[in-house]
Amino acid sequence: HILPRQVRDALFTWVRPVTVEKPELLAVSPAAMRDLGIAEGDEKSDDFVNTVAGNKLQGWDEEKQEGGYPWAQCYGGFQFGQWAGQLGDGRAISLFETTNPSSGIRYELQLKGAGLTPYSRFADGKAVLRSSIREFVVSEALNALGIPTTRALSLTLLPGVKVRRETIEPGAIVARFAQSWLRIGNFDILRARGDRELIRKLATYIAEDVFGGWETLPGRLEDPDKATESAPPKRGIPADAIEGPSESAENRFTRLYREIVRRNALTVAKWQAYGFMNGVLNTDNTSLSGLSIDFGPFAFMDNFDPSYTPNHDDHMLRYSYKNQPSIIWWNLVRLGESLGESIGVGSKVDDPTFVEDGVKEEEADGIISRAEKIIMQTGEEYKAVFLGEYRRVMTARLGLKNQKEDDFKELFSEALDTMESLELDFNLFFRRLSSVKIDELETEAARQDKAGVFFYSDGVTGAGGEKEGRKRVGEWLDKWRQRILEDWGDGKTVSDEQDRERMGAMKKVNPNFVPRGWILDEIIKRVEKDDERDVLDRVMQMALHPFEESWAGRTFDGKEYEGDKDEETRW
Ligand code: AMP
Ligand code: MG
Ligand code: MG
Repeated sequence: HILPRQVRDALFTWVRPVTVEKPELLAVSPAAMRDLGIAEGDEKSDDFVNTVAGNKLQGWDEEKQEGGYPWAQCYGGFQFGQWAGQLGDGRAISLFETTNPSSGIRYELQLKGAGLTPYSRFADGKAVLRSSIREFVVSEALNALGIPTTRALSLTLLPGVKVRRETIEPGAIVARFAQSWLRIGNFDILRARGDRELIRKLATYIAEDVFGGWETLPGRLEDPDKATESAPPKRGIPADAIEGPSESAENRFTRLYREIVRRNALTVAKWQAYGFMNGVLNTDNTSLSGLSIDFGPFAFMDNFDPSYTPNHDDHMLRYSYKNQPSIIWWNLVRLGESLGESIGVGSKVDDPTFVEDGVKEEEADGIISRAEKIIMQTGEEYKAVFLGEYRRVMTARLGLKNQKEDDFKELFSEALDTMESLELDFNLFFRRLSSVKIDELETEAARQDKAGVFFYSDGVTGAGGEKEGRKRVGEWLDKWRQRILEDWGDGKTVSDEQDRERMGAMKKVNPNFVPRGWILDEIIKRVEKDDERDVLDRVMQMALHPFEESWAGRTFDGKEYEGDKDEETRW
């Protein structure tokens, strides 16, 4: 019998999933099977189904009572900016770690909705089908888009498990996996309890075990303005190297902090570039590995609206699209504070007597001010890495090869402002643009005519109406055309072949499918009704291959479109 409780002096608790009757495997992700190194067809075995339903423990000998046992994590968190105390895995239980022999990548497999843990607080430890379908699809969709995320292997219905929400619903389990499920909240709880020894231990574990060694962690960015993913920051600085004057001495914990900050900057930049919103960016939902994590009221942007939040309780718009980059930084500052002592003591951290003795009172001020300085410097890097990555992805999405100073204002901002005021669909805009031929844009009249491809079939609903809308998009298309001519042609013309190449490149980065809220609602409805469960497999095919050209000839649920083949589908 599991009682919710405060768990001290520990990072996790051993706890096993509840046994369930007649689990029904609804779907697996073929991409996840591949990445975990599970052979196709293995999902049909009882062993597989009972493992992902929590009935069978791999590696645990039930008779001898020995081997690897499942566990739930202890963490805390700031929810909507307020300290919320101990949270922890209230309905998620990790089963084991497994390394794919061909990729060498190690994953931690975890069941969500597997029953009570010491961290369940007042809730039931269960998950319903609705939220499980959403998590299953979006995890794999984000991964296919190239956005770092936790993954989903399978979706299992538990007909025998009754879950009380607004009505009584059957339970479900998503088997999910990630290289690490650690989040900022793991440090928050240790800081709140003043457990500096566990803070060091956890930080050391992340550096050595999750990230692959202190020596892989980066030093300070030399030129933040040149930060892009393709030019990674300098690595390989020796673990005991102290850079710069002793005032801002950087030790290995500082480098770990930087790595976590950079990973998150890269991920949030991709969220912004693809219009993804998490919806609940509390510190317990912010990954230390920079993964998209914890999918509750998430959404992909439909009509571009920077103030949109998918979270109905988010009245202050704290977790709206436009606030994501600053909120992730807010969370990372909380992490900096948790690591504050370790990063602020500079080289002393490498003195073996230091950890046991702790900080002498007279040293505290110096440590705090050094830590604050380092956090602020890292904030500059966060901004630089974020902007570099955002620029890189947006440049690619617009079909450009080079970044020009003016692009940000003239092309990115102007496109976004236009989408906002005309209420145009964000992801559709880029995909439609990918099919626009440059020689269709030679005259003002032609450009205004072409503008129609970005509009909904019932016309422009936003400011100024149809005529103004066409004019505005036409003007933007003119600027864009100039840049394409520069980057792909000789500045004045572009050959058919060059233009085809450009369109092909754009279609590799601009998805033809994203799991929009209404599509997920439709899937949920059909799977719940139990009459059309294969919709899941069809939609997963699209989610796993989001850039496919042929999805345009299908309906949103992956069926062949029966109407006019040339008519582009509007989702
Ligand atoms: P979330 O809002 O999903 O980040 O969850 C916040 C906290 O509530 C986490 O500690 C979750 O584990 C916990 N929690 C959410 N739903 C449940 C549930 N049905 N049973 C137990 N714990 C839950
Ligand atoms: Mg959470
Ligand atoms: Mg959640």
